[in-house]
Amino acid sequence: MTSLNDLPIRDDLRGREPYGAPQLDVAVRLNTNENPYPPSPRLVKALGEAVAEVAGSLNRYPDRDAVALRADLADFLNADTPGAGLTAERVWAANGSNEIIQQILQAFGGPGRRALGFEPSYSMHPIITHVSGTAWIDAQRDEDFGLDPERAVAAVEAHRPDIVFLTSPNNPTGTALPPEAIEAILEVAPGMVVVDEAYGEFRREDTLSSLELLPDHPRLIVTRTMSKAFAMAGTRLGYLAADPAVIEALLLVRLPYHLSAVTQAVARTALAHSEELLGTVDTLRHERDLLVGWLRSQGLRVADSDANFVLFGTFADRRRVWRAVLDQGVLIREVGPPEWLRVSIGTSEETATFRSALTTALKEAQ
Ligand SMILES: *Cc1c(COP(=O)(O)O)cnc(C)c1O
Repeated sequence: MTSLNDLPIRDDLRGREPYGAPQLDVAVRLNTNENPYPPSPRLVKALGEAVAEVAGSLNRYPDRDAVALRADLADFLNADTPGAGLTAERVWAANGSNEIIQQILQAFGGPGRRALGFEPSYSMHPIITHVSGTAWIDAQRDEDFGLDPERAVAAVEAHRPDIVFLTSPNNPTGTALPPEAIEAILEVAPGMVVVDEAYGEFRREDTLSSLELLPDHPRLIVTRTMSKAFAMAGTRLGYLAADPAVIEALLLVRLPYHLSAVTQAVARTALAHSEELLGTVDTLRHERDLLVGWLRSQGLRVADSDANFVLFGTFADRRRVWRAVLDQGVLIREVGPPEWLRVSIGTSEETATFRSALTTALKEAQ
């Protein structure tokens, strides 16, 4: 039997663990921040028809530059943030925003270069950074998971990273960054600044999207995904908005024909139904605010959330609470700072099941 260690694998990959949010077959899955509402029968039919239409020409490669899809995404972003002024030349798409992040690192990172992020934040930023041969600098968020502009600027000035990762609303804390912090970092960052807005559509009314900052900042990249609010995680479609020159750089590293004809057709059909797909966002936000209130009423600490999940704690032994909740058929996530747990917002029935499972788990823990 050959083991991984017998193989001539890269030295820097030895001993690493693959990304692995558990995929368990339980009744209530509230661990990967998906939208719990499946597409309607009407949309399922439209998706089927769109796939049937491209099926007849699957002997041919797809549009390598996915221009029609990028134009649709630009229209969608302009509707989300009036004044963003986006066009197909300013938008790029890939198989999930994780692939977007990988392409950014391939173009702007690499051996001898550095990327900096403020933790706790999205675990894939450091993982993809390492895999691309880029060094990772782990700066810290504030005690309340926010980011004080002065401290952030000092970290960027001290390390002069080639890429800064900011996540807003942040995963796993739900915290949105104040625009002053993002603008202050843009002022001093010597390289690219990536604002990961995977949860952008869930932000509260008065929270700004960094899309508004794009016209004045050619080294800013804002990433989005169809996996979360857009209820299309299975499609694998992530995208970004940036200056056209940034997209020229990404064309140098992307694989030819990376987005299949099926993906492009499905994503365009989903965008044509964006009103339906995003129709659940208000419900999910409302459920989120109710859950935050309920968790606080149980005497727990809860981070303010602009996303479709809530980080709560603190537990001396979070593994035990996670396990006790799982034993009742509810999968939540052990992630982020060591004494906290994260739960995604499900349907109101799922959230009710979670509340009673947690109540039981907390009694057991006493
Ligand atoms: C889920 C998530 C992503 C990745 O989503 P894809 O499914 O690859 O589009 C990116 N960033 C953050 C912060 C996320 O939580």
